Amino acid sequence: MYDIEKFYEAKSAGDAVAHLAADPNAMVISGGTDVLVKLRAGKGAGCDLVSIHEIPELHGVDRTTDGTIVIGPATCFTDITNDPIIRESLPYLGEAVDTVGGPQIRSMGTIGGNLCNGATSADSAATMQTLNARLVLQGPDGSREVPVTEFYTGPGRTVRKREEVLIAILVKPEDYIGWSGCYIKYGKRKSMEIATLGCCVRVKLEADPGAEKAAGVSSSEEASGSGFLPGAGYVLGDVCIGYAVAAPTPTRCRNTEKLLTGMKADDPKIYDLIAEHVLEEVSPRDSWRASRDFRIQLIKEMARRALEQAILRGTGKGTPGASYFSPVELDEMGEAGGQVWEAEHPEEKEMPVYKKDGEVLNGQTGQVIRDTDKKGGDQ
Ligand SMILES: Cc1cc2nc3c(=O)[nH]c(=O)nc-3n(C[C@H](O)[C@H](O)[C@H](O)COP(=O)(O)OP(=O)(O)OC[C@H]3O[C@@H](n4cnc5c(N)ncnc54)[C@H](O)[C@@H]3O)c2cc1C
Repeated sequence: MYDIEKFYEAKSAGDAVAHLAADPNAMVISGGTDVLVKLRAGKGAGCDLVSIHEIPELHGVDRTTDGTIVIGPATCFTDITNDPIIRESLPYLGEAVDTVGGPQIRSMGTIGGNLCNGATSADSAATMQTLNARLVLQGPDGSREVPVTEFYTGPGRTVRKREEVLIAILVKPEDYIGWSGCYIKYGKRKSMEIATLGCCVRVKLEADPGAEKAAGVSSSEEASGSGFLPGAGYVLGDVCIGYAVAAPTPTRCRNTEKLLTGMKADDPKIYDLIAEHVLEEVSPRDSWRASRDFRIQLIKEMARRALEQAILRGTGKGTPGASYFSPVELDEMGEAGGQVWEAEHPEEKEMPVYKKDGEVLNGQTGQVIRDTDKKGGDQ
């Protein structure tokens, strides 16, 4: 049961703020997918809830005349992913929130709730960090804008005061025009799973002035003779790297970003450089979900993959759709990934193996637990 004292449906953001200010026992509820779970577990029992769910101005996505994208915090994940402005200008954000939970959660859970709950595992968090999003908080004394990079103060904690309502999420044109990006989530299964690690890399590619001189020979061709790396003819004009669950709060890797900026996009060295240097800017921990060592492997490998996909997308050759990987795909990580992980985590061998075609195998015996035909839900 839900131990709630009072419930108020606010008519406007100002109305919600007034109720929160007048009632020290009140807190905001939006989609309720975090609040109600906590209440049922007894956390915050006896509170008063002020709902912002029915406030029209907090829903939807818009673009102002100067190109700033304004995201309503009460917009649910499904609507974010399907929004035409998001699809055109921030597709990687739509993909990131499309990895949340399952269809029901994505239809109720909101992007504002995902930020305000302060969780380092929030699936919008890594991408929002790289977007330099600005959060508009309305309180009893007016509004203030807080960069998302300064929003988190610790696990589950933010600078938002109890009586403040997040009324808008702003993304400036300079932070998305000309950029491409990719969010990768690692989870042990492909739905209804909180991220073990999330990584977003965004790049702004610029034409390489030296490319003509090289007469079509890319750095990767020069270096490896194979020419398999994407991005020939471009330099990394700017780079943003964000992580979820790589530290107690969502994180940016600004020093690594600076090191990469200006390098040729098809230079093979960028992949080792990103993998090596992001480790200096994160502080992953052991948890029941994964060990610190395993997270370190993920942090390196996901940075490489997200960077490659962001460059591919910047040259119009990327793969659309959310990037999401689970243990079975670690095989592809070779020495640096799957084998090391298995050796260090023998207990995990018994985990079910989710194959790409939907089949589920017993990780120990290889026997089929569920075959593709009987597959159900949002796997
Ligand atoms: C089964 C299940 C699976 C889940 N899977 C995932 C997942 O894969 N990835 C993931 O990231 N999350 C997941 N979640 C968590 C949750 O769905 C998200 O964090 C969601 O974004 C919360 O949004 P909400 O609108 O439901 O927030 P609520 O529960 O309404 O609120 C969450 C917090 O934010 C505050 N708040 C909400 N909106 C505002 C606002 N506009 N202004 C001020 N404060 C506000 C509330 O007071 C509360 O503290 C899952 C939850 C469940 C129950």
